[in-house]
Amino acid sequence: MLHYSCDMCKRPIDHCCEARHVVKIDVFQAVNDSADGCIEGDDFDHLDDVQELLQRIDEQDLEMLEDDVARTLRFDLCDECRRAFLKNPLGAKQSKTFNFSNN
Ligand SMILES: [Zn+2]
Repeated sequence: MLHYSCDMCKRPIDHCCEARHVVKIDVFQAVNDSADGCIEGDDFDHLDDVQELLQRIDEQDLEMLEDDVARTLRFDLCDECRRAFLKNPLGAKQSKTFNFSNN
């Protein structure tokens, strides 16, 4: 039987009485497209880049990939940690006061 544990608190998740939540995070380099952020249209030159990229993926090992290319991170969370995660997805330090700049 598959056994899951929460990736945040490491607590085992009992799937018969508790919901397991999956968090997937895609990390990828934004396409530096100055044309108002719209990918549609006639600017499909980057398909060549994708082809190139795919060829490079064949040649390079996975360690290189991790630095270079999009990554998908996947975590299992218990219900409690899901809520905590959604409040602060990036784990940034929460300050109770907002720092407004003085200009
Ligand atoms: Zn948890």
